[in-house]
Amino acid sequence: MPASRSRLSTYRIPAFAIAVAMLLGVGVASVYGVTTLRQSNAWIEHTYEVINRIEVVERAIRGAEASARAYRLTSHPEFRSQYLAAVPEVERATGELMMAIRDNPGQDARARRLREVARAHLAELQRLYDLQETQGDAAARLGTDAALTLRQWGEIDATGSEMRREEQRLLEARKARSATYADRLVAIVVLGMLLSVTLLISLMVSVSRENRRARALEQDARGAAQEMALSMAKVDRLSHQRHVLSRYSGLLQSCQTLEEIVQLSIETIQRLVPGASGRFYLMRASQDFQESVAVFGDALISSPDFLSANDCWALRRGQPHEIHGEDGSLMACAHIDAGKPVPGTTALCLPLSAQGAQIGLLHVSAATDALDHGEAVDELLGQLAEQLGLAIANLQLRETLRTQSLRDPLTGLFNRRYLEENLARELTRCERRGLPLSVLMLDVDHFKRFNDTHGHAAGDALLSQVGRLLEVGVRSEDIPCRYGGEEFTIVMPELDAAGACARAEQIRREVERTTVQHLGQTLGPVTMSIGIATYPADGDTPAVLLQMADATLYRAKAEGRNRVLHASHA
Ligand code: GH3
Ligand code: MG
Ligand code: MG
Repeated sequence: MPASRSRLSTYRIPAFAIAVAMLLGVGVASVYGVTTLRQSNAWIEHTYEVINRIEVVERAIRGAEASARAYRLTSHPEFRSQYLAAVPEVERATGELMMAIRDNPGQDARARRLREVARAHLAELQRLYDLQETQGDAAARLGTDAALTLRQWGEIDATGSEMRREEQRLLEARKARSATYADRLVAIVVLGMLLSVTLLISLMVSVSRENRRARALEQDARGAAQEMALSMAKVDRLSHQRHVLSRYSGLLQSCQTLEEIVQLSIETIQRLVPGASGRFYLMRASQDFQESVAVFGDALISSPDFLSANDCWALRRGQPHEIHGEDGSLMACAHIDAGKPVPGTTALCLPLSAQGAQIGLLHVSAATDALDHGEAVDELLGQLAEQLGLAIANLQLRETLRTQSLRDPLTGLFNRRYLEENLARELTRCERRGLPLSVLMLDVDHFKRFNDTHGHAAGDALLSQVGRLLEVGVRSEDIPCRYGGEEFTIVMPELDAAGACARAEQIRREVERTTVQHLGQTLGPVTMSIGIATYPADGDTPAVLLQMADATLYRAKAEGRNRVLHASHA
């Protein structure tokens, strides 16, 4: 393509020059031809004029002859004056003829001969005239030399005819030359015009083709520049998005609560997808439903608070699932707007998982334009969901570990470490506000015997049952703990001795009524002994209070078990 273009443009200027030169040539040839034709015509006209002059000479001679003869016959003075006028006319006509043919030597010689015969004939006429004037008409008629006159006439006719023939021949030749010139001129003009017009048309076609190609090239270049600008903008946007995501990763490490994680994720999603809205779902502990834990944006596409794995393609397949408003009926999730997405919007469901386990779902919807900003946005949201899943799983793990470090695994109650930390704090608080605080120490009676009778596992089941009972039987501000073995402690802030005794008695009675289902057997009931110490009367430090409660417990054991005793009571 470029080769043919350059060849065209290389030949264009010479071709144009040739076309112009040919047009000029046609012009010059026309001018020359017309001039030649005009000259040729002038020669033809000249020939006609010469023929005319020959006839004028002949007519003048005949005129002189006729008037002389008439005068000789009639002696009428009119004929004499005609004769006298005709004589110089012959000389004048002959002179003019000689002027006209002076450039043609052959004709000139004939004209001279004609003039000589004419002059000789005039001299004969003059001789007869003179004879008539001096000797009378009869003498003149008698003096006529008929033979001479005939000879002279013959010579005049012959010379005139000869000259006319010659002129006629010249006329034919000139006419023929003129016709040839005219034919050649027409041929040159037609051919030249055809060639130059063809050349000019092909030049115009080539130029217009070149222009079209130049315009196409220009358009290509403009398109390429636009594409370049777009891809630069895309690169910019991508690098901005990558920056947003890397900032997200960094900050995610430092989040301490689910609220922080969710807040940071919302902020990041809305920076990646302007105008986005959506929901965060987390799998419930019972593993049955995904529960909405946060909503953001102006809910372009609504989604319910609870959804099961069957409601969402992303959850079913464990892969991101995208639904366009336009082809919404195609594989739309049941949970979005009752399966009918809004035209012009796109919804994206991203499963949140960690170590292969599904822990939640991120549902994002946005105007299709914003979300379809290249595949990169999907990809980035996918990466965000991956990190989000891991972060939530980490948080849940940390929570579990923390719970494990504070709670007793068998009973689910707080452990001794938690008790020691919180008893001191609650005591300080009650001290500051001048409120009482009671500590209960509880121990299962003859637990060793229970263990021995039913086995250790049954003992565990009983301890777990007692733990649950204590958990539900106390106020929310109370702190029920497993102190160790089959011993339990309950810290009851703001509760005085009487209140604590009443609650302890309630617990004792509950335990007394409790049986345990273990391996298809109903075991128990068991009893419990409870010792109580109350701040400030029985002590003002955790250690003293615990010690007093424990001592009172032992007193209760000693007094026969299955009872509640308070340190302050004798
Ligand atoms: P009493 O308190 O009435 O004096 O009698 P007791 O039999 O309960 O006496 P003691 O406190 O000496 O015995 C506690 C027993 O509890 C000893 C141990 O085998 C059992 N025990 C301690 N921790 C656990 C546990 O986690 N699970 C089970 N099954 N038994 C435990
Ligand atoms: Mg015991
Ligand atoms: Mg014990």
